[in-house]
Order: sequence, then C-alpha cells, then structure tokens
Amino acid sequence: MQIETRIQVADIPEEGLFLNFSELSKLIPEVDDYVKIGTTQGRLEIHKSGANIEINGWVKSQVHLCCDRCLKSFPKEVETSFFYLLQPKADFGRDLSSDHQLSRDEIDVYWYEDGQILGEELFREQILLQLPMRNLCKEECKGLCAGCGADLNEARCRCSEQEPEGPFAVLAQLKATSKN
Ligand SMILES: [Zn+2]
Ligand SMILES: [Zn+2]
Repeated sequence: MQIETRIQVADIPEEGLFLNFSELSKLIPEVDDYVKIGTTQGRLEIHKSGANIEINGWVKSQVHLCCDRCLKSFPKEVETSFFYLLQPKADFGRDLSSDHQLSRDEIDVYWYEDGQILGEELFREQILLQLPMRNLCKEECKGLCAGCGADLNEARCRCSEQEPEGPFAVLAQLKATSKN
C-alpha cells in the first residue's frame, strides 16, 4: 500500500498527526545516478502550534552508493531522527525567539505553502544529510587502474602485460594460439 506523504495542514487535528511509512523509496524523488534510495521506513509526528507546524521525524534507509574509486555500487544504511519547524510562507523569517526556547541555529526552520507539507522532501533531505562526503565501498579500496581499467581489488594490473605493443607482440600471440 502506498501512503501519501503530502499532508494537508487543514487535516492536522489538534492532538497531532502520527504517521508511519513502511516503504517510502518510491515516493522519494530520485537523487542522481550515484545515489539510489532503496528500502526506506519513516515516521512523522506532526503538531500545530498556531500557524506553525512542528515535525518530529525518524527515517531509516538502505541507500546504494557508487564507490568513488572502483565505481561499484555498495549499500549503506542510514538512520536519523530530526526536527523541523515549518512556518507559513508569508510569516517566514519572523523572529521565533518569543515563542520558542530554541534559537534558529539549533533547529531547521522552513516554510510551507499552499497549505501542504511535502513529507517526502523532508525524508529525502534527511537521508542526503547522512551521506558521507566521500563514497568508498571500503576504506582501503584500491580502485581502478587508470591505464588498463582493472579493478585492483580483484585483479592484477595488466598494463605491463600489454606492452610491448608492436608487430612482434602480435606475432608472438599468433604463435601461441597456433600451438593450441
Ligand atoms: Zn571501491
Ligand atoms: Zn593497469
């Protein structure tokens, strides 16, 4: 079952809205060729505070990243809790200190418009924030040889074997095959 992640502010009851998402990956907008979002679970607890919306959330996702060195895809699990304060777009930027103990630096403050909250965007942003600066399938990944393209984790570099690249090398190869 696909659950809608767009929440109408008008539908949020006074006691709050509690949503569990068992599979979000289809709902989250695609990132790029190097980051694929797999199985993802999430939770949102949404409360109204006047015109503002407070969101406590949690997300856990199996992300498939592309190794910077060997270009292989590898899985990485990310999990995080988050808090957002959303203001109506018209009020955005108004001083918060009077109604909140936390300063603007300590919380993520965003705006919403058209009376709806895009839950999938919050999940997506939180997943991306958890990703490392460098994507390595393993810390000691040896990468690909720039000369022959061999994956040096699994194979030996073939650069020296391919030399000398001349008529004699071709002859030697012909000889080798005719013997078989
Ligand atoms: Zn690698
Ligand atoms: Zn090589």
